[in-house]
Amino acid sequence: MAKPTLIVIGAGVAGLTCALELAERGIAVEVVERGRALGEGSCSWMAGGMLAPWCERATTEPEVADWGAPSIDWWAERFPGTVRRGSLVVTQPRDVPDLTRFAQRTERFEWVDAERLAGLEPDLAGRFRRALYFPDEAHLDPRRALAALAARLQERGVAIRFGVEAAPSDVPADIVVDCRGLAARDALPDLRGVRGEMVVVRAPDISLQRPVRLLHPRIPLYIVPRADGLFMIGATMIESERRGPVSVRSAVELLNAAYTLHPAFGEAEIVELGADLRPAFPDNLPAVRQKSDRVLHANGLFRHGFLLAPALARRVAESVLSMLQSETPHEDLPQRRRA
Ligand SMILES: Cc1cc2nc3c(=O)[nH]c(=O)nc-3n(C[C@H](O)[C@H](O)[C@H](O)COP(=O)(O)OP(=O)(O)OC[C@H]3O[C@@H](n4cnc5c(N)ncnc54)[C@H](O)[C@@H]3O)c2cc1C
Repeated sequence: MAKPTLIVIGAGVAGLTCALELAERGIAVEVVERGRALGEGSCSWMAGGMLAPWCERATTEPEVADWGAPSIDWWAERFPGTVRRGSLVVTQPRDVPDLTRFAQRTERFEWVDAERLAGLEPDLAGRFRRALYFPDEAHLDPRRALAALAARLQERGVAIRFGVEAAPSDVPADIVVDCRGLAARDALPDLRGVRGEMVVVRAPDISLQRPVRLLHPRIPLYIVPRADGLFMIGATMIESERRGPVSVRSAVELLNAAYTLHPAFGEAEIVELGADLRPAFPDNLPAVRQKSDRVLHANGLFRHGFLLAPALARRVAESVLSMLQSETPHEDLPQRRRA
């Protein structure tokens, strides 16, 4: 009997993690991507790369932390650039009650005083009286992580065909996994775009070992350190589907907040300004949906692409295995927790 053919559409974080999970389970798979190179036209290219389930627990559904926590090991096993040094949350003295409220809504953190903070991040010495330290969190550079996944797929003989625009109904495969992000709205009408904007700066005089969130009344800003003195400053979250460049207001707010974190950011060079639309379902949780006997849609990663893609991919792989065994697959996955 001929081997069943399986095609993943989209080489963003959803598509590449799904393809790798499938390949690791011995399923022959191929990826098609309409961009001409990795990252082109992909929301995943704009991400900060924080793997911060317990910080997210303070402001999102509990599923995000439950599904996201195991992804730190998933990335560390597949991408050596995964940095496990935790993350910090700080605030201006006038906003300390916000930090207390944030702490009340989550777990797996330590309160640290100014002295401990200076030990963790010498560049923040004397700048904040208290902070929350989440020692078990991690971060990665999304662009390097995507490249590492592509290389792993290549090692396993999985082809990624760039410059191929595909529609799930027309793809000549036994099973299609649709990971087109927001472009899948033709099949998933409740998918919406949530605009996010970010700035990358080069600040060789600043050294941060881990992501730092600055609680802020309007923008929950974060700064993620990358190699070569680069820092990603993100991200706005705007209920708008406007594409196009970063607005002056957003750039000013992001850069101002970075300056608040450390005045040396005032001397940094702006390397990149970027914006994209995060694909989100109404409950802001990802899902795997099956709408025909051969097409699975994996989508809705919202602002948790790197955090939740491994859980989404695992669900896709389980669904594919059950389709191959001709069992009735699940309708909508991951399942919401039962109350
Ligand atoms: C500013 C910003 C900051 C963010 N920060 C974080 C963060 O810190 N941590 C985190 O986990 N997440 C973050 N996110 C969210 C994350 O980027 C998204 O959740 C994630 O990228 C969505 O991945 P995806 O694979 O579903 O979509 P995409 O990355 O958009 O991938 C879809 C792919 O499908 C391709 N495609 C579309 N149509 C077709 C077609 N017809 N044929 C072939 N290919 C097609 C596209 O070209 C694209 O490459 C951030 C997002 C933004 C915008």
